[in-house]
Amino acid sequence: MDTQIIRVDEGHENTGLLRQAGEVIKAGGLVAFPTETVYGLGGDAMNPDSSRKIYAAKGRPSDNPLIVHICCMEDLAPIVKEIPEAARRLAEAFWPGPLTMIFEKSDLIPYETTGGLDTVAVRMPNHPVAMELIHAAGGYIAAPSANLSGRPSPTLAKYVAEDMVGRIEMIIDGGDVEIGLESTIIDMTEDIPLILRPGYITKEMLEEVLQSVGEDKALMSDSSGQAPKAPGMKYRHYAPKGELTIVDGDLRRVVEYINEQTMFMQEKGHKVGIIGTDATIAGYSGDLCKSVGERDEEATIAKRLYRTLREFDDEGVTVIFSESFDTAGMGQAIMNRLLKAAGHHVIRV
Ligand code: AMP
Ligand code: MG
Repeated sequence: MDTQIIRVDEGHENTGLLRQAGEVIKAGGLVAFPTETVYGLGGDAMNPDSSRKIYAAKGRPSDNPLIVHICCMEDLAPIVKEIPEAARRLAEAFWPGPLTMIFEKSDLIPYETTGGLDTVAVRMPNHPVAMELIHAAGGYIAAPSANLSGRPSPTLAKYVAEDMVGRIEMIIDGGDVEIGLESTIIDMTEDIPLILRPGYITKEMLEEVLQSVGEDKALMSDSSGQAPKAPGMKYRHYAPKGELTIVDGDLRRVVEYINEQTMFMQEKGHKVGIIGTDATIAGYSGDLCKSVGERDEEATIAKRLYRTLREFDDEGVTVIFSESFDTAGMGQAIMNRLLKAAGHHVIRV
């Protein structure tokens, strides 16, 4: 299949292009598009064939449901059984934005889109291109992240192209994304809404709107026993091609340990990539040392994480060491992704 790549520029009139892309989706095709979190791989959420095609293009297990993207609040009611009051309040506070809410689904949403579940995940993205595309496609776009299953989510169109050229009809290049990590997922079907995946919208931010918010216990642990409630969270995810190890502990010891291991790995013929921060990066001796920013600037770290992993892939890095990051606030989302990317391989020094 030929994949058409179209570039949309901020401040330009893109309506014609996006209308064309909307027609592709309406006709059952797949279009990758930018959102404020990561690039999405979109198909018509109401069309079971489109959802099947999404799973096939990604190589994604079909029990891992998709997120339905909408562009206005009126479009929520038809696809869910009910809108709990708490969900209305969260929508008011955070939509459009990086928050996905889980509802009981209505009959309009096919089981192919929800991975066989009776619930549906819904999000309203805060991105002009995404909004206009959803509108042009008829209001409901099912979209997971636009990467091959298991790989880091794409934060640039060139990474979408790397994974998806030849597999989908169209890629809309809207430049760099703003956030760089997937949305927070919260289950609104529980008495106490439950965070299933941490993201840019933190527990503290949610608690400013709702009295109490729970967290899926399986969130930060490895697969020891409890299955995560978001089916997708049980799979190895976000993984670079190189073997990734997180090193946790006193920073000076971390740098020492990583340098020792780097030498050892280089002697064995490996190309070593290191993920550090501005304060430590000059002290490392890997083949490629990349800073994800200042340690206390979580938003920058989040934005650079997947890109850094992809850059290591581009450079043929075979072994990666990363510093560990905080687990408070948005740091929890960063650590959650990093732990998955590392297959929970953490060394404490
Ligand atoms: P992605 O679009 O790649 O970020 O993947 C979507 C994520 O949303 C996966 O982790 C899914 O398991 C999760 N998800 C989607 N629908 C549901 C649902 N109905 N219940 C729980 N988790 C869901
Ligand atoms: Mg994904």
